[in-house]
Amino acid sequence: MSLEGEIRKKILFMVENSKTKTEYRKPLIGFARADDPLFLKLKEHISENYLLPCDLLENARTVISFFIPFSKTVVSSNRGGAVTSQEWLIAYVETNELLSKISEELISHLKNKGIEAVTVKPTHNFDPNTLISRWSHKHTAYVAGLGTFGIHHMLITEAGCAGRFGSLIISEEILPSKRPSFDYCLEKRGNNCNYCIDKCPTSALSAQGFDKPKCYAHLKQISRKFSTLGKCDACGKCAMGPCALAIP
Ligand code: SF4
Ligand code: SF4
Repeated sequence: MSLEGEIRKKILFMVENSKTKTEYRKPLIGFARADDPLFLKLKEHISENYLLPCDLLENARTVISFFIPFSKTVVSSNRGGAVTSQEWLIAYVETNELLSKISEELISHLKNKGIEAVTVKPTHNFDPNTLISRWSHKHTAYVAGLGTFGIHHMLITEAGCAGRFGSLIISEEILPSKRPSFDYCLEKRGNNCNYCIDKCPTSALSAQGFDKPKCYAHLKQISRKFSTLGKCDACGKCAMGPCALAIP
């Protein structure tokens, strides 16, 4: 089996056998060249401290990106009302753990084959003052062809935006995936939608853009309220629309 096949098989197996309360749909997996010029563009766009694949691994050749989509049940639980469902928060916490486990397992598998691999933790890897990460899994997923950004600043994939992303940098070459040829977000395609803006309980998301500090203040409030569930600074109300489970 090719290296790409092995990686796909491992990720699919670990998601199918995750033993989490949360149920998932089939993961999506994409690949990017480590020297893809888009990584440099991200650095220019996001911050001068943003890391390139070669900053994380000297011999970086390929970046693996994967998306674990939540089940329809998890999405349905969080539709309606302004309060985030416990199912959504549990999915957030459990999936962050699962992303770490998958990455660790892949790193160990690749190491046995003489391939170097590194990852960055799934979340909470941002500067608490600027809220800017030095490595973004969702931007990496964009480079690896997994989707396009919606006006809600999330990545919409073929399986929607309701789920979580992970990524690894490896020292072996795998052919890059093709990027989508059109915008998946309805508004960006010139159709009326604005579901995400209408449903944002804090107006952090508006026609004027995305107020990240306002959104994060809300997420911290939720995390404090549901502290028994773990570090659950999540909301997801803007991810429940026509782009939640598929390309709208
Ligand atoms: S809810 Fe509608 S407008 Fe918002 S990102 Fe999704 S498709 Fe685009
Ligand atoms: S996560 Fe919640 S608060 Fe933040 S933009 Fe989306 S809907 Fe608004």
